[in-house]
Amino acid sequence: MARKVLTLGEVRDGALRNVSFETIGAAKIAAEGGEVVSVLIGNDVKSLGAELIQYGADRVVVVEDEKLVQYTPDGYSQALMTVIDGEKPEGLIFGHTALGKDLAPKIASKLQSGLISDATSVEEAGGNLVFTRPIYSGKAFEKKIVTDGLVFATIRPNNIAPLAKDESRSGEVSSLQADIKDLRTVIKEVVRKASEGVDLSEAKVVIAGGRGVKSEDGFEPLKELASVLGGAVGASRGACDAEYCDYSLQIGQTGKVVTPDLYIACGISGAIQHLAGMSNSKVIVAINKDPEANIFKVADYGIVGDLFEVVPMLTEEFRKLKV
Ligand code: FAD
Repeated sequence: MARKVLTLGEVRDGALRNVSFETIGAAKIAAEGGEVVSVLIGNDVKSLGAELIQYGADRVVVVEDEKLVQYTPDGYSQALMTVIDGEKPEGLIFGHTALGKDLAPKIASKLQSGLISDATSVEEAGGNLVFTRPIYSGKAFEKKIVTDGLVFATIRPNNIAPLAKDESRSGEVSSLQADIKDLRTVIKEVVRKASEGVDLSEAKVVIAGGRGVKSEDGFEPLKELASVLGGAVGASRGACDAEYCDYSLQIGQTGKVVTPDLYIACGISGAIQHLAGMSNSKVIVAINKDPEANIFKVADYGIVGDLFEVVPMLTEEFRKLKV
């Protein structure tokens, strides 16, 4: 059944996040030949609309207001509900990001609809739309079949491929005036944690360290490998609890969920809570001194050895490949 599907573009530091393009890829499938309309919310963001078209959106609707410079659930839901009232979509797809996780349930409750959260794939099967999502911390997957009503889902970043960018594609980017009422939450200032390099949740390569790195300095070889591979550094909770690194790097059940093309686990035992955050990575390499470590059960390649010997060797070899 062809349907109109809205996606939400996410902007950070003046640029669209990758997940904005992935939601369009998912929406194309969910639309089953219908229209895909991307929504951009913010202030001074209209110029980004063309890129959403190049990634497959048929049309872009932009809501701009000074009150929307920073994300607030209040402001964004007012803007989005104005678009939804006008467009009357049959589907909504957001990223399962910090923003999407906050906003989607709010919109779902306003629309009195269901919500499929954290989907890792969407396909048309037997005349129905089927979403797959991990359950029990990634130990199993469930299929959600949408038979009727609004299709509303958040999709996990790095799982559904965006369409190839087509710079020759053009489409309408229109502005919509929304009457944004006074916000109950006003952001006075955003204080960002200093973070180096690539964003962990969107990185294609993640080098993660565990308690086996033994100290803050022990992360240095991992950072070097990450920089040679253009990746990000992550960590187990063991490493965070031991104060070797900041909790913003924690991967797992109570940390970030990552699905990079390559995940290199260094000195991480592979507790179930850690696996919940990385076991869907495309290729997993584990480096551990203990041949019995649980991490080897999920690894595609295992290296039994001391990470302080193995990681610099890998860095050296990858460096040679780059020149
Ligand atoms: P350890 O289990 O101590 O493993 C260290 C590993 O390093 C060992 O396998 C050892 O052989 C190896 N090693 C040591 N030295 C070297 C060396 N020189 N070279 C190579 N290998 C070496 N954990 C998470 O990671 N993320 C979560 O989100 C999370 N959430 C949790 C939520 C709850 C409710 C609970 C109860 C726990 C949670 N945990 C989480 C903690 C989890 O259970 C583990 O305690 C934690 O993952 C262990 O971290 P680790 O693997 O770094 O440490």
